[in-house]
Amino acid sequence: MSDDEPTVPVRCPECETETAVPLSRVGESVERHNEQLHDGCEVARVDPALREQLADLVAEDLGLLG
Ligand SMILES: [Zn+2]
Repeated sequence: MSDDEPTVPVRCPECETETAVPLSRVGESVERHNEQLHDGCEVARVDPALREQLADLVAEDLGLLG
C-alpha cells in the first residue's frame, strides 16, 4: 500500500459507511457501489464540499490553472 496516492472519503448514508478510496479509483468505486447496492441510484458520493476542493486540486495537477 502506497502513501503517495491521496484518498477521498466516500459516504453512503444508506449503508452508513464512509470509505477512503484512492483518488484515481473514486469514480468507478462510487459507481459500482451504487450499481450493486442501490440499483444505480446516486446514494454513495464524495462529500460535495470536498469534491469542489478536489476539482481544484486535480485541475492544478493537470496544469489547467496555469
Ligand atoms: Zn450504499
